[in-house]
Amino acid sequence: MDSLGQALEEIHDRIHEEADWGLPAQYIPELANVVPEQFAISVVTADGSCHSVGQAQRPFSIQSISKVFALIATLGRIGDQLWTRVGREPTRTAFDSIMLLETDSGRPPNPFVNAGAIVTTDALLSGREPRQALAEILGLIRAMAGTDDIYINNEVADSEKRTGARNKALAHYLASHGNLRNDPDLTLGTYFHQCAIEMTTEQLAMSGRVLAGLECAPRTISRMHAKRANALMMTCGHYDASGEFAFKVGLPGKSGVGGGILLIAPRKASIAIWSPGLNGYGNSHAGTRAAAMLARSTGWSVF
Ligand code: GLN
Repeated sequence: MDSLGQALEEIHDRIHEEADWGLPAQYIPELANVVPEQFAISVVTADGSCHSVGQAQRPFSIQSISKVFALIATLGRIGDQLWTRVGREPTRTAFDSIMLLETDSGRPPNPFVNAGAIVTTDALLSGREPRQALAEILGLIRAMAGTDDIYINNEVADSEKRTGARNKALAHYLASHGNLRNDPDLTLGTYFHQCAIEMTTEQLAMSGRVLAGLECAPRTISRMHAKRANALMMTCGHYDASGEFAFKVGLPGKSGVGGGILLIAPRKASIAIWSPGLNGYGNSHAGTRAAAMLARSTGWSVF
């Protein structure tokens, strides 16, 4: 076995030995039922080959990782206009916090906290039906991943719609500041469906090739947008644990409460990790540790 394959096997074994899984997201009923003792990593390298360990063909809810794709689609559509409505600064507050919205008059700090993602989806939705905006996000993901076998799980979206009081509060608060162009419930419905997209780690790692600038990647997005997405992943991709993640891993990453992490090693690899149990920041508990192990064993860091 080559050294990358061996490193992945070692990480897989260690994660299972440690058996320290955390709990799946409790506030989304469909996700609360997922068995926590699951783990997968897929790594696509510059030559286009994909190495995986664990349940790499099992679709999981990408949740906030979808915010990267929604951001790219929105930048492709309206470019820098987005930044009049959303900032580009990390926060020390939780992903679903409302606090900074009050101090900054309804302008979310970055496109990866929930409020910022709701505004981004609202911008993508403008002048269209939710199904058209969702088709654009799904189409972009499928093109980036190189497969059409990627779908939205409507039960997960409905489950979040029923229980998403916090996100409803955020959307209506944004609307009160005039920072939503559509009916808040229409924007929220689109956002919940975007978060309910399911992918395997293999598909997710494939979708990150263009972000990593790999030669095997299809040219689906502009180089500038790829760079900017990476910058935001590095500074804001793990919410109030982004500094810690940069310190331990040193690579741009985006987490989701489904337990996934998309990790980019520029010009070297695109990596997807999944383990559904979360830590206190809402990031994958075992997945975060696995990311640090992988960065250490490969020497991949942007620093
Ligand atoms: N759909 C989730 C929410 O809005 C996404 C959050 C996340 O993955 N961090 O709460």
